[in-house]
Amino acid sequence: MDAKVERVLLVALFHELVLKGNNRPFFYRVALRNLQIALSDFGVRVRRIPPQFAEVRTPPELEQAVRERLCSVIGVEYVVPAWRTQHTWEDVLQGVQRVLAEMGPFASFAVRCRRTDKRFLFPAPEMESRLGAAIAEWTGARVNLTQPERTIWVRVLSEGVYIFVERFEGIGGLPVGVSGRVVALLSGGIDSPVAAWRMMLRGCQVEFVHFHSFPLVSRRSQEKARQLVQHLTRYQYHSRLFLVPLAEIQQHVLVLAPPEFRVVLYRRFMYRIAERIARQLRAHALVTGESLAQVSSQTLSNLAVIDAAAEMPVLRPLIGMSKHEIVELARRIGTYEISIQPDEDCCSLFVPRHSATRSDPEQIAALEARLPIEELVQRALQEQECVHERFPVRPNAPEPA
Ligand code: ATP
Ligand code: MG
Repeated sequence: MDAKVERVLLVALFHELVLKGNNRPFFYRVALRNLQIALSDFGVRVRRIPPQFAEVRTPPELEQAVRERLCSVIGVEYVVPAWRTQHTWEDVLQGVQRVLAEMGPFASFAVRCRRTDKRFLFPAPEMESRLGAAIAEWTGARVNLTQPERTIWVRVLSEGVYIFVERFEGIGGLPVGVSGRVVALLSGGIDSPVAAWRMMLRGCQVEFVHFHSFPLVSRRSQEKARQLVQHLTRYQYHSRLFLVPLAEIQQHVLVLAPPEFRVVLYRRFMYRIAERIARQLRAHALVTGESLAQVSSQTLSNLAVIDAAAEMPVLRPLIGMSKHEIVELARRIGTYEISIQPDEDCCSLFVPRHSATRSDPEQIAALEARLPIEELVQRALQEQECVHERFPVRPNAPEPA
């Protein structure tokens, strides 16, 4: 039996979900599983509070850290530190007193009640006026419904009554996993990590492919890709990063193609290889950080030619964003600092400052006709390496097969 009045964190899951009636049980299940994994290093349990909440009890010294972790879980709308009571009026009054004891003095207040489970207690307006009168009597403060200095929230749910005064906004989005799997092409740049993150926020599990030019250049770009994936894994708990050598392909392209066509040819190889990996992982789409006309290889005409190399849909969540907006997001999610470290990206190698802004598909086809495409793709795939990243990091956790 639960104690009568208990301190908990109440987590509200998914805002957008209200619209998605039929998917709701599935979304809820995935969200709860993610919460449990996200908190696995704290050793706290997540309790289901239907229809769309979860509750976590923590020792007081962990509360802030757990709350911050919860706010960064995709799918969490908000988190409130609350006092939970049973469904009797006496318990609710006790809970309110606990909240008041933590609040410090105030001159005016309002009580806002939502009764989600109508089996218990009184209708919300009646609860508000009864509690308002009680609090006014205890504290000497006035009720002020238009501009209260403090608001005391009371939420009646099936598992208890939650009383709270503070709300912390979560990251929002749809729980990772509800939208299936995608494969993101991850350079060491600013854009592609943001693109991957945007897909996570839409409920995708993202796996990563990075193309490198080792041994023509150092391993720097691979380390950077790994750091980026490590960082992004805090939003999805497990990621795979495939490191694929592009050096041999680049050497072939270099000999064959005039400088202005090289980037488009490299990209077409990247799409082909990433698509093979995606099929093996049962992923449904590729994701890139391309943004329209940001650089000369990303004109509509070039994107069309590059796109044609893959049969799978290629998702470009940043396509309509400005560089400024992308940088702002990168800073917010914490990838910017990693992305701006210097590295030797495979595409800075052997590439002119500017690509042709218009590719002619026939010209590209004629160039590719002179390359052993399937052989090059196969060899790159054979030499791929895969690393796993996990969050939270559990010491001695075995790597999955
Ligand atoms: P980014 O900031 O993501 O590097 P960018 O503005 O530099 O993007 P490009 O270099 O034209 O743009 O790359 C376009 C997209 O192609 C990238 O966002 C990424 O998805 C993919 N890409 C480029 N280079 C690589 C690479 N070495 N490995 C994997 N994907 C790559
Ligand atoms: Mg780049």
